[in-house]
Order: sequence, then structure tokens, then C-alpha cells
Amino acid sequence: MTIPTGSQNSPRPGAHSAFVTHLECSKTGQHYPKDTLLGMSDDGAPLIVRYDLDALGKAVTKDIVAARPPDMWRYREFLPLGDDIEAISLGEPMTPLVRLPTVEKRLGVADILVKDEGRLPTGSFKGRGMSVAVSMAKAFGVTRIAIPTAGNAGSGLAAYATRAGIESFVFTPADTPEITASEIAFHGAKAWRVDGFVGDCAKIVDDGTDVMGWCDFTTLKEPYRVEGKKTMGLELAEQYGWNLPDVIFFPTGGGVCLIAMWKVFNELKEMGWITGPLPRMAAVQSTGCGPIVRAFNAGARDVVAPWENVTTNVHGVRVPSPLGGTMVLDVLYESNGFGTAVDDDAVHAARAKICAEEGFHMCPEGAACVVALEMERASGRVGPGDRVALFNSASGLKSPMPPMTNFLEPGKAVDFSAL
Ligand SMILES: *Cc1c(COP(=O)(O)O)cnc(C)c1O
Repeated sequence: MTIPTGSQNSPRPGAHSAFVTHLECSKTGQHYPKDTLLGMSDDGAPLIVRYDLDALGKAVTKDIVAARPPDMWRYREFLPLGDDIEAISLGEPMTPLVRLPTVEKRLGVADILVKDEGRLPTGSFKGRGMSVAVSMAKAFGVTRIAIPTAGNAGSGLAAYATRAGIESFVFTPADTPEITASEIAFHGAKAWRVDGFVGDCAKIVDDGTDVMGWCDFTTLKEPYRVEGKKTMGLELAEQYGWNLPDVIFFPTGGGVCLIAMWKVFNELKEMGWITGPLPRMAAVQSTGCGPIVRAFNAGARDVVAPWENVTTNVHGVRVPSPLGGTMVLDVLYESNGFGTAVDDDAVHAARAKICAEEGFHMCPEGAACVVALEMERASGRVGPGDRVALFNSASGLKSPMPPMTNFLEPGKAVDFSAL
């Protein structure tokens, strides 16, 4: 059976909430009707969900939100699901802000908080987007989903699809960490390693979509993961007392998170929930794969050429040719932000140091934000008085650690002073 994902798909009244007005092409602004399952626009660009923010602001207040349970569904009105649509949820807690006092001291920055996204189901922020996107897919009657992924989006999809009774097909680069590859299969996805990069995986999904009747969950090829990831920005705003930090560093691969946070900050501003200047958004990438940072530093509006020679092993930022490059660059320019490319060696050293000094285990992508902050403190882009938010995008436990090789033999006397 083929599940059409194009605009010819038949509508399902009530799939979207009353606050959703329409979907919009990110390139041309063309409107598309709500309550219809759509992938991308007819111009091949990502679709954006638009809301009646006036009506939304009348239906819900900050106080109403504050009285709800501390999970991402407290912001339900900001999400696209219709009232009668079941949320496919595994329990998505509000993630905490963790202070890094030794880093604050070392860098001479007074206020550094890390939003720890490692606490979410499947151990990364990808759970937020997948919870909402799979809920919508289920509402539209989708039975099979496929995704190309560096890893965490795959385990997120696998978990939520299984929960929803939807089949999932996940394609990851061959060198995806064992723990993530195993996790994807363990959650019940049909999982495959592909000898190449995420772009090669994307080609397989593209080629198989018609034959297999897949709903294509490639980053930004469906409009709802962005909506789910907005909850990161909503939580951040609420946790900062609706007075957002001055600078936000995010480890950027496909760039969905920067796009999603910027979208919701603007929605909140239009609703009058936040005032004053919005944060400067900083895209953290790698010197071994930094197409967005390179384009930003060249003053370009588009990522025209893919990154040629990918050498980084920081998997979350290994996207040589981001589909939403233009949208991410727009966020950097509009927010007066910037891009920073960091070195793998510095990232792995920072991860080890922070884990040992602060007791806080960051993933490499999170540690990359600390390295970027250090560089931009030195460059002067970040000042001592700036309130800085960093994102630890996944649990440190999902990435390999140096082996521990100390052994004691039972029955032999222990030299305690040598322990
Ligand atoms: C996916 C991912 C990223 C990149 O996020 P984007 O929204 O694609 O830019 C960063 N870190 C980790 C751990 C990820 O899984």
C-alpha cells in the first residue's frame, strides 16, 4: 500500500488543533490547508505550521501553564495536535537547567546554565520532536515511517513509532556508535547501517518511499518535529522567568532546534509573553564538518556546497548538506547571532574535564558548546555579564567513554594506600 505524502492526500478533519490556521511554504509563503497530511511544499521547501496567536493567547495564560504537570505537554496549545488526538508520549519531563560553576570561574562569565536534554526518553532532545511528529502521523493514519539519521533521531523514532503501533525503518551511517545502533533495533525498528554518510541514507529513503509506502521523516521533510522541539524554547523561557538569556549555544546538525526555538520565541514575542530583545543564537559546529558556520562567515544566505571532507566524530553535528541551511542562516542573521566551529580534540577534552570537575556528564555535542563558549569569550562575542544558555543535547551515556582497566584479584592482599 502506498501512503501519499503529497498535497493530494485526503483531509482528516480535527487532526490539527483549532489554533492552527494553515501550513506555509518556507520559501514562497504559499498557504496549504490544515487537516491534511503534507510532507514538503510543491516548491520542495519545508512547511511551517502557523497558528492564530491571538486566539491562543486568549485560551491559555502563563499562570495556567505554570499550574500544569512539569512535562512538555503543558504547552499543548502551542503544539499542532487536535483536541481529540491522542499524544503518543513516553513521559517527557521538563529538563533541568544545570549550573557549571567551574566553567563560569574559568571563563569569567557569571551566568552559565546548561539545559540537560539527556533526561528525555531515548536520552536526547530528539524525543520531543518525535513525540509530536509520531502523534500527528498516527492521527493521519500513517502505518510506516522511514528516516535517515546520524543516530538519535532514529532511536527517538523507533521508540515512539513502536509506542504508536507504527512500523519504522531506520538508516544510519556505518560508524554510528554501537549503543545508538543497538538501541534503534532494540526499540523494534527495522534498522540498517549504510556504508556512507547521512546523505547516502537519505537517498535510500528517497528511493524506497513509493515502493514501501513510507512516510518520509527526513529532517524538515515533515512539519511537526519542529513543533515538538519548540517545547525546548518554551521551557527555557518559562525557566528563565519569561526573560530569555542573552546568548544561546546549540550544537547544530540539521539545524531544526535553532529553527524551532527561534520560531517559538517569535510566537511568544508576538503574544506579548516575552519582551525585550530575543537571544543571540549561536550555531556550534565542527572544524571537521561546519557547512553552516562556513556559510555564515562568508556572509552567505544559503549553504550551497556540501562539506567535502567530513572528519568529525561528533555525530550530532555531522550533517554535510543541511536541508534547512537557509532557515538556520536566517536565524543567525535575524538574531544577531553567529556560528562557531570547534575542534574534536578540544571537545573530547572538555567532556572529560567537565565530567571530572563538575560531576556533570555531557555528550560530545554538549561539550562542543562549552568549547565554543570559551572561544567566543576570548573573541569578545560573549561578555562577562552575558547570561548564557548551553544545550546538552543528549545523555553522556550514549557516547563511548575511555575503558576502565583497573583490576583487583580476590584472595590477594589489597595495597590500600595504592588505590
Ligand atoms: C540531532 C542532534 C544534534 C543536532 O540537532 P539539529 O536540530 O539537527 O541541529 C545535536 N546533538 C545531538 C546529540 C543530536 O542528536
